[in-house]
Amino acid sequence: MSPKTWRAAFYSVEPEAREYLASRLEDLDTRFYSEPLEPSRIDEWTVGSHILSVFIKEPITDEVMARLPNLRLITTRSTGYDHIDLEAADRRGITVCNVPHYGENTVAEHTFALILALSRRVHEAWVRTQRGDFSIQGLRGFDLYGKTLGVVGAGSIGLHVIRIARGFGMHVLAYDVHPNQLLADVLGFTYVSLDDLLTQSDIVTLHVPLLPSTHHLMNRERLSRLKRGAVLINTSRGGVVDTDALLWALDEGILAGAGLDVVEGEEWITEEQELLKAPAAEEKLRMAVRVHLLLQRDNVVFTPHIAFNSKEALERILDTTVANIRAFLKGTPQNVVNHPATHEN
Ligand code: NAD
Repeated sequence: MSPKTWRAAFYSVEPEAREYLASRLEDLDTRFYSEPLEPSRIDEWTVGSHILSVFIKEPITDEVMARLPNLRLITTRSTGYDHIDLEAADRRGITVCNVPHYGENTVAEHTFALILALSRRVHEAWVRTQRGDFSIQGLRGFDLYGKTLGVVGAGSIGLHVIRIARGFGMHVLAYDVHPNQLLADVLGFTYVSLDDLLTQSDIVTLHVPLLPSTHHLMNRERLSRLKRGAVLINTSRGGVVDTDALLWALDEGILAGAGLDVVEGEEWITEEQELLKAPAAEEKLRMAVRVHLLLQRDNVVFTPHIAFNSKEALERILDTTVANIRAFLKGTPQNVVNHPATHEN
């Protein structure tokens, strides 16, 4: 096929990103949608597309793929790809690419934004001063210097978190299924078991991908192992933490605070109307209620999945997405995260 006959549909694209992508993909037949891909609203143009580019809030299920018979490439503009049914993509011969590196430092910096908001009670102070209340009672924080940070998942992001933590003079413990002793020696941290990490850390921060093995990794039993008064930070994926267990640990005072950029059911916070129509609405409604309970707490700092969202990181995401498309069209796909069956046509 000549490039112009490749049809590429981009969803959840903001105006600046649209310009950036359009100018770099002029030789393709592109269309940009500002809203997320919604299965019931897929138009005829997208039905004929060969390339689909989405973001994290768009579940690309077998059903969605079945609606797009020409689809050959899904390129998600994220590191995580748990929103795409890889098994279905394999079976259908659809290549799935991600952006493995774009914002390791970006997400790590946001992790510290959450840690510092909690350690210095920045969010509580802000709310108070907005009301004209400048009292300092109850706003005493704690130092990071000399404290122990437990990093669960010392991959690309986790290692940047460790680098920053060392700058603050923190001791760092890490748990990872693939430890790398050289990195530990260079950055000055210690690999330990998950249990030791939980019992010894003042702050625990999560940087594992959401996999069957990490789903609800932080359950009630593991949270109960934490030091009393510890702080939990999650910038990975909501499903890594069991929200009921998290609410319990906060109520019990096991956790003194939580900094969350992600939470189970985050997609339903702003989409309550959609929620009522969704399959398994009752369970999703329960999730949304749990999220609201979390957000009401003074000792929970929540950001709406923006850890990746810096200007520099977004440009790197778009550059890699363009490179993923170019590599695929040349027959040398890159950043492939699945094992697509050979396409027959
Ligand atoms: P990565 O693959 O480089 O690192 C993940 C690490 O987790 C690896 O070292 C891996 O060995 C380890 N790991 C996997 N399963 C494990 C388990 N069961 N127990 C312990 N360790 C395990 O990924 P990354 O680039 O560091 O990103 C981590 C996650 O952060 C992504 O998968 C994504 O879900 C999330 N993320 C969130 C945002 C955001 O905006 N909030 C942005 C980017 C990435």
